[in-house]
Amino acid sequence: MKSSELFEEAKKLIPGGVSSPVRAIKPYPFYVESAEGSKLKTADGEELIDCCLGYGPLILGHVNPVVKSAIAEQIEKGWLYGTPTPSELDLSRMIIADHPSIDMCRFVSSGSEATMAAIRLARGFSGKKDIIKIEGGFHGAHDGVLIKAGSGATTMGVPDSAGVIADIVKHTAQVPYNDTESLTELIEKNNDIAAFILEPVMGNVGPILPKKGYLQEVRKITEENGVLLICDEVICGYRLGIGGAQVKFGIKPDITTLGKVAGGGLPVGIFGGRREIMEMVAPSGPVYQAGTFSGNPLTLAAGKAAVGYLRENPEIYVKLEENIRVIKESLPEKYQSRFVNEGSMFKLFFRDTPPQNYIEAKESDTEAFSLFWKKMLKAGIFLPPAQFETNFISTAHSDADIEKIAGAYSECL
Ligand code: PMP
Repeated sequence: MKSSELFEEAKKLIPGGVSSPVRAIKPYPFYVESAEGSKLKTADGEELIDCCLGYGPLILGHVNPVVKSAIAEQIEKGWLYGTPTPSELDLSRMIIADHPSIDMCRFVSSGSEATMAAIRLARGFSGKKDIIKIEGGFHGAHDGVLIKAGSGATTMGVPDSAGVIADIVKHTAQVPYNDTESLTELIEKNNDIAAFILEPVMGNVGPILPKKGYLQEVRKITEENGVLLICDEVICGYRLGIGGAQVKFGIKPDITTLGKVAGGGLPVGIFGGRREIMEMVAPSGPVYQAGTFSGNPLTLAAGKAAVGYLRENPEIYVKLEENIRVIKESLPEKYQSRFVNEGSMFKLFFRDTPPQNYIEAKESDTEAFSLFWKKMLKAGIFLPPAQFETNFISTAHSDADIEKIAGAYSECL
């Protein structure tokens, strides 16, 4: 069946026809039958260069041979035991070694689960109730963070979800990104703040970069006021480099959440932090957290293979960054200043200057974006279908792919 026919059927079976809202491309999404390297093959027989990469995890591209053989080897040995496995030790050792802020970590099955547990842990540890998040920050689809949420929530026009009760979200305050004054003001007014959660580089309204000194100042303010700092590195972790944004920008959060790349493309979430905080997690402490699929052997095998490969080949990050520079520098000059990139995260904003925060990002011309996005798709390039999502490239993108992406950008603009 073709994509249009599949979608018609899917709409009868699945709300909106999709398993996650941002996939509901209009008038219908393309369906993928297979993928390899940098390319997707659609049900309509097209081949697309993939700059979405599963919304970030596939930094080594599709069906990377190292990850594939690790998964295949694990399949032979079983894919769910419901017991601890030696692989948990291997992957946690790598994560702890790569993140100076992490003494211990725990595996879960999604980024949402990781941030939910991290927030509960911050409350359990501090005995305080409230949290602060960034306007437009997206930390998954659980109640306490679904206000002014970025990603699909903003794209679909529902940054505040129905069904999330006021009694819960009244404990979530918001501050604009890149604004330490608002943060200080809020913290000075309220002494019941358990944690401040932020993506060090915002990935869910397109990439927004921290102003010079912003993250260091955030660390200072939170530390001085006894507010735990949660760095949500679900996108940035192992994407911006070994140790993610916190190592790149030199900050030490109290709690970190990881996901995406760290699971090699299989479902994963990880939360970790200082030993005295992590020891509050059950069964060593009173903060409950559990999951049937937590630390599942297939994810651990894929995660170990992907993270291990990145650690052994750190020059990958230099090449990825170089490739993004090639794309940026090929653009007509007026667009270069609207092109925001950090590591292998990038986006062109349809506004005059790079946004500093959510409000500015939302001023982008989303209609122009949609037209551009459709043209790019016709040119054989799949970008995430929203202004408020980050584009990615992988090590599987060849120089020819990069040239094709760069050429398509200029032509479609
Ligand atoms: N935090 C951040 C920063 C994310 O980007 C996402 C997902 N895009 C999540 C949390 C939630 O992760 P998941 O989709 O794996 O639940």
